[in-house]
Order: sequence, then structure tokens, then C-alpha cells
Amino acid sequence: MSNQSGNDAGKHSAERLRTSGRTPYNLSANEIPFAPLPGVLKVLQEAAGEVNRYPDAACAELRSELADRLRVPKERVVVGTGSVALIQNLLMEYVDGPDDEVVFAWRSFEGYRTMARLAGAVPVAIPLREDRHDLDAMADALTHNTRVVFVCNPNNPTGSVVGRAELEQFLDRVPKNVLVVIDEAYREFADGPQALDCVEIAGERPNVVVFRTFSKAYGLAGLRIGFAVAHEPVAAALRGRALPYGVSALAQRAAVESLRAQEPLAERVAELVLRRSLLVDGLRAAGWQVPDPHGNFVWLGLGERTRDFAHDCEESGVMVKVFPDEGVRITVGEPEAVEAVLAVASRFYRADARHS
Ligand code: PMP
Repeated sequence: MSNQSGNDAGKHSAERLRTSGRTPYNLSANEIPFAPLPGVLKVLQEAAGEVNRYPDAACAELRSELADRLRVPKERVVVGTGSVALIQNLLMEYVDGPDDEVVFAWRSFEGYRTMARLAGAVPVAIPLREDRHDLDAMADALTHNTRVVFVCNPNNPTGSVVGRAELEQFLDRVPKNVLVVIDEAYREFADGPQALDCVEIAGERPNVVVFRTFSKAYGLAGLRIGFAVAHEPVAAALRGRALPYGVSALAQRAAVESLRAQEPLAERVAELVLRRSLLVDGLRAAGWQVPDPHGNFVWLGLGERTRDFAHDCEESGVMVKVFPDEGVRITVGEPEAVEAVLAVASRFYRADARHS
């Protein structure tokens, strides 16, 4: 998946910089820049002493904890090895034949397209309109072959969100036999009145599934753990597709502990949202047009100047995610990394203005 290869590229460049004695900042993978909370490290140490045992295949404690917090029955919660695994399992389950279609916005998370192909489906990519999901066009694109449609909210990589009314209107237009996945990987960073609770919206709609992850705001990307909230038949199908014992005990324990540490985690999210504002305000002050960000990243639509910009960032020790000829996605990282990006972006904008 190019998200992963983007991260690998970021890691390689980071290694090169490190060997040349500079601090590298990998802002290419939407990871948070904080080490695990002390309480999370402690349960990981405890769990590490028991890795001679298999994990709980049912993830019972974590599912109960999630069910209580989300006010849904435990049967509706499915835990997986990251939301990528849930996406894959869902597509494997619901894509049948070579004509089956999977609809998603573009650009959005590359995993939708890659995994639709892996599942043998036809990927149907509907262009964003002004960096936002074009839900009308997505509804228009549904055919009798459509099996699954993804809504990435907030959208990776543009950071846009959909509003409640437009989402509900869209859901009203989707036939009941088509599954809608609302991927909320970045929901914790979406502040303000636009932050939707899609678990609630999915409440009375059996064809709507919500995916969330511990990889982003919870900072557990390396442990591979995410979850879905689905109506029971879909949840049972997803569970049936899961790799037995896939979710490690370390991941389960760390996730439970993280859910119980809402306050320090909320502080970290607030800190990143603050840094995001500094980054966006600085970019706009330097002349850039930046869409309002609602994830832990910022989108710069650079078009053909993308590679040059990414090159300048790298020269300053910053790896960004490159979408050739489209733009870059910059994860909100360390304060020094935010400063470094702002310095590069101001220089680049001024030089660019001189040449045009
Ligand atoms: N959905 C979106 C929108 C993402 O950006 C990502 C990771 N970049 C994922 C899902 C996958 O997350 P994970 O498998 O780590 O839970």
C-alpha cells in the first residue's frame, strides 16, 4: 500500500539524515510524536512477561470496555489488527464476483483502492470536490454492482469532514444491500460542532459500519489494533474473517489502558490540535491556501511543484507524504518539526512567487 511505502520512504530518508548527524522528522505517516503514556508502558511490560500464552481470541475485556463507552451491545464491536485488517476482511466478505464495485472518494486513503483490488472488486474512485467528499456524485455512482462504499471522515489526506445533514442525506440514498463504511481513523482530532458521532448515526441503519483505530490519537500504531462497530450480522461476518489470535495480548491490554486514560490522551490531542493551528496559521500567513484540517495532518495541494517542495523539506530534515503532481500531506509532529516546515514553506512560497 502506498501509505506504507510512503512511510518506508520516510524511514529510509530519516535514516540517511540521521547518519549525516541531523535530526530527522518523519511527518509522512500520520503517527503522533509522543511515546506511550507511562501507564500504557507499564501494562505492556506486564503483558510482555506472558507472551508464552495465546491472547484472548475474543478480545472480551476490550470489547466490553468499548461497548460500555459507545453504548452499544458487545456483540456489535469487532476488534482487528488495525483498521486495515478490518477493511480487508470486510471486502473479502462482501465482494463476490469480478463485476462487484467498491466506491470511495479520491483522493482518500489508498487502502480502499488497494484492498478493493485485492478482494477482486472494481475500484470506483469519485473525485473530491474542493478537497471534500462529493457525496452526491458518490451516490450517483452507486450501481446494482456496488457492494461497499467508503466515507473517510475526516478525510485522509485532505483533512475535510462531512456534515451531519449531507451524510444523512447520502445514507438515505444508499440502497440497503450496500454497506457504507465510515472510517473515523482521525475522529479524535476533529473538533468543534462538525465532529460527528457516526456510531450514533449508524444506530438505526443496519448497512452502516464505523471503523476506528488505536493507531492515531491513541498512539498505538506499532501494536496494530483497531475496531469496528457494526450491526450484528456484519459484526459476526467480520469476526468470522479474522485471523485467529491475530490481536496480541499486548495490543489488547494497551488499548484497554488507553481507553481508561482519556484525560492525558485528550491533553495530547489538544496539544496536537494547537500545533496544527500554528502550522495552518503560519502557512496561510506565508501566502499558502490550506483547506481547514480536521485530522492530525495538513494538506498542501502543490500540483506539479510537489516534488520540489518535498525535496526542500527533506533537505531540512522533514519527511512529508508525497502524492506526485498533487500535493503533500504533512503530519503534525514535534514543535521543531512544525517550525522546520514553516521555514521551508515560507522560503518556497517566496521563491515560487519570484519565478511566476
Ligand atoms: N483509515 C485511514 C483513513 C487511515 O489513514 C489509516 C492509516 N493511515 C487507516 C485506516 C489504517 O489504520 P490502522 O490499520 O493503523 O488502524
